[in-house]
Amino acid sequence: MEEIDVAIVGGGPSGLQAAISLARKGHSPIVFEEHPIIGQPIQCGEGISLNALEEFDLVKKSKSFVVREYENCKIYFPSNDVIMGDIHSYTINRDIFDQHLAKEAQRAGAEVKLSSKINGAYKKNESIIIKTTSEKKQEYKCEMLILAEGPQGRLASNLGFSPPSPLISAFEYRVEGEWGDTLEFYFDKEKYPFGYCWIFPKKGETNVGIVTTAKERKTRLDRFLEEKKITGKKIKMVGGQIPMNGPSNKLYDKQIMLVGDAAGMVNPIFYGGIRLAMLSGKIAGEVAATNLERKENEFSYSCKEYESKLKKYEFMKKVNLKCHNSFYGFSNKSLSKIGTIFNNKYINRIEKLEKLEIFWKILKNPSISRKIKDLYYMYRGFKIARDWGF
Ligand SMILES: Cc1cc2nc3c(=O)[nH]c(=O)nc-3n(C[C@H](O)[C@H](O)[C@H](O)COP(=O)(O)OP(=O)(O)OC[C@H]3O[C@@H](n4cnc5c(N)ncnc54)[C@H](O)[C@@H]3O)c2cc1C
Repeated sequence: MEEIDVAIVGGGPSGLQAAISLARKGHSPIVFEEHPIIGQPIQCGEGISLNALEEFDLVKKSKSFVVREYENCKIYFPSNDVIMGDIHSYTINRDIFDQHLAKEAQRAGAEVKLSSKINGAYKKNESIIIKTTSEKKQEYKCEMLILAEGPQGRLASNLGFSPPSPLISAFEYRVEGEWGDTLEFYFDKEKYPFGYCWIFPKKGETNVGIVTTAKERKTRLDRFLEEKKITGKKIKMVGGQIPMNGPSNKLYDKQIMLVGDAAGMVNPIFYGGIRLAMLSGKIAGEVAATNLERKENEFSYSCKEYESKLKKYEFMKKVNLKCHNSFYGFSNKSLSKIGTIFNNKYINRIEKLEKLEIFWKILKNPSISRKIKDLYYMYRGFKIARDWGF
């Protein structure tokens, strides 16, 4: 049985970023990825914010994976009113983005094993044994394990963690042609409960998708395409699941850390997860490195620091779930009124005078003013989403 210091299961942004931060501290983690090509199949709208790229020093290196750049986004309400979001963002080729991270990890000294599905994991004495049937060496004994396996959390369940719950389903077409000139989000409680439709133009093609708790997602998305007169040829269909309620309660034990979607690290308003996946991966990698260094002197592991470091961030706060509940709790009637009040305004750039004008409009609308608390949480949720990417 091969012995390794840190095994990382999953070669998405969370696992690869964990590998990068461990390898940059002089360690040699192994990333196990079940697919033969990193980043494929793509299950993503491929939207990312400038903040995210800046945080990981990726702006200068972004030429290979960035497709288009946007200064803002548009958030549509059922009344067809639009709220502007001043979020500097990009559409990317997500497979190339993930492959870039894999190369960075390898360059720093990590190993990335492709076509290596981990089928089981159990604890034995002070180690964790992981099993694969994909190669000759069937078992690895590891000191620490980082679970970056995405939203299903199968290994996490084996090891006594709860997989992120609930999950929401997303479905997307890649459509020929460039439809629209910025990132667009369409909210409608009746058509897309607990979610929205999106239009993210790339070059020569556009990602058009839906995320919702409603069934018949494909039918609803087809209807959306009809309404928006998006007639381009459908080149590809992708679907996937996303944790809906934000970070899980239990994120670590003595030698194991959950990162990215496996830990529910997703913004519960727009359901974007790339940035939080990378951030949680980075912190987990650093904490694993500290543990390995500490082990030289005393044999004791602790990943408590992973949680305490994460807890400093706004997105970890339970208030985000309140924002989610408030925003997705609004009826279409309320959403339309909110849309009309904020129509054409940049939600994060409202001047003092405008604030007074908005406040007056809210007061004149008893059905909205009765929900002022929900409106506050919605505003706060949008702000956090803006700061953290979608
Ligand atoms: C349709 C859709 C659209 C989205 N659009 C956006 C968007 O525009 N912007 C955004 O920020 N977020 C978006 N998200 C969310 C985002 O894609 C995820 O939050 C992000 O990929 C999480 O990264 P991760 O590394 O945690 O997990 P993943 O990217 O899911 O990576 C997990 C990896 O683990 C591998 N794996 C799983 N189990 C095993 C195993 N047992 N052994 C070996 N390998 C294993 C998988 O093959 C996979 O490569 C979208 C999600 C979906 C489904």
